[in-house]
Amino acid sequence: MQRVALHAAMQRVALQGRHLLSFSPSRFLSSHHMSTDAQAAIARLRDSGLLKSKGLVGGKWVDSYDGKTVQVQNPATGDVIANVPCMGKRETDDAISSAYNTFYSWSKRTASERSKCLRKWYDLIVSHKEDLALLITLEQGKPLKEALGEVSYGAAFIEFFAEEAKRIYGDIIPPTSSDRRLFVLKQPVGVVGAITPWNFPLAMITRKVGPALACGCTVIVKPSEYTPLTALAAADLALQAGIPPGALNVVMGNAPDIGDSLLQSTQVRKITFTGSTAVGKKLMAGSANTVKKVSLELGGNAPCIVFDDADLDVAVKGSLAAKFRNSGQTCVCANRILVQEGIYDEFANALTKAVQNLQVGNGLVEGVVQGPLINEAAVEKVEKFVNDATSKGANVILGGKRHSLGMTFYEPTILGNVNSEMLVSREEVFGPVAPLLPFKTEEEAIKIANDTNAGLAAYIFTKSIPRSWRVSEALEYGLVGVNEGLISTEVAPFGGAKQSGLGREGSKYGIDEYLELKYVCMGNLEA
Ligand code: ADP
Repeated sequence: MQRVALHAAMQRVALQGRHLLSFSPSRFLSSHHMSTDAQAAIARLRDSGLLKSKGLVGGKWVDSYDGKTVQVQNPATGDVIANVPCMGKRETDDAISSAYNTFYSWSKRTASERSKCLRKWYDLIVSHKEDLALLITLEQGKPLKEALGEVSYGAAFIEFFAEEAKRIYGDIIPPTSSDRRLFVLKQPVGVVGAITPWNFPLAMITRKVGPALACGCTVIVKPSEYTPLTALAAADLALQAGIPPGALNVVMGNAPDIGDSLLQSTQVRKITFTGSTAVGKKLMAGSANTVKKVSLELGGNAPCIVFDDADLDVAVKGSLAAKFRNSGQTCVCANRILVQEGIYDEFANALTKAVQNLQVGNGLVEGVVQGPLINEAAVEKVEKFVNDATSKGANVILGGKRHSLGMTFYEPTILGNVNSEMLVSREEVFGPVAPLLPFKTEEEAIKIANDTNAGLAAYIFTKSIPRSWRVSEALEYGLVGVNEGLISTEVAPFGGAKQSGLGREGSKYGIDEYLELKYVCMGNLEA
């Protein structure tokens, strides 16, 4: 009991943006043994060697210098699955040196050689997909089927960038005088620091590491302390695939210290981050001193606009997928569902029927489609947002409270009559709550949708082709789904407008984030 209370208290602090969670005594100082439940789940691993509980620096599995560890817990049960090293500045400095020393040889390999290593890594991820999915479900909570989907999605970035490695073409520019020739070379930017969140423990790493390694960069990955096991297993497979020691390093533990080490180093030339807007801003500011290249994928506040002329089934299926995937814990999850007056009642009824059928529980249980939230603090945040909405006039159509399973489970919820002043519309709820906001006109919907500093994903449901174009163009967002609720793919550029981020991940554009352009002018050719 005491441990749970302490944990909750620390997480409250973390949510206030101070990120002291890393120092929760409950996770750092005690040495709980793995529970029998966790042992049983882990016994399901086909290759038990994939369960790594050390950091990876220069190809070696290492502990923290002071021997401190962080507990990794299953959010569905509270079980301790593993203890991983609590690393900080010294360990990160080691990882940076190792990445720096490997950069020359890795970047000098031919594109074809790098491509083959990545392809082998992809093949190994695919052949170990059940084990990776099990680790994802154990440490993150999402249902096993969804975790398997993440493994395929995550692996696809490695495959795509293995292919793309061979297509990093430069340019020849027609010269301004006949005795000159002008060239543009594309070269790897150098050592990359990649900081990733817990909601996609594999895919958020592969979409950064894939393009970085493809073009010859070397990388230090700092996964979330909640979900390091998937990252470590993936890194082990990278070593097995022949990606050289030092090209991919993994450190975790004290996030601010690791971040500072990466930011202060002149050898780290690029920071790529997925996570909260608050931390993203800190990393952007911290990169200024050494003028690093920065890519940020930050919070969203996705509007999902259902027009009167939508196909009801398509709109319900799409909104359900856009809202409830990963129990609402993705940055592209529909945060506000704007519904035009003429279809409001019909849509609310149909969505309620669909949401009522979502089975909540431990992601390892067959049939479960809604797992737990990542921690107690996340549940408290959802509670706070729902209470704020109901106190300002929203009505609970479904759910609206913690699930009887207790722990970190919250009932899939639908709120009606929500407006733009409520917290649930202004900030990312990151939980299974679908707020319905009624609107009258297309113009009004666009205005409400754009009235936020975020600009990641937006969704619209309409049968009208002219309206699809008009609204897609008017939305100040980096991604728009038209009659589709799940649109992320490795072949398309993912990234946000406004304060949702900088740069794009995936697709042919994704590799540019890891490349430096070099202009070469060859002169006096007629001398
Ligand atoms: P979330 O709310 O999704 O956990 P965070 O931005 O807190 O988002 O976390 C995303 C990643 O950023 C995690 O790996 C976390 O450990 C890391 N992180 C948090 N604070 C810092 C910091 N000050 N410097 C570097 N990384 C940080």
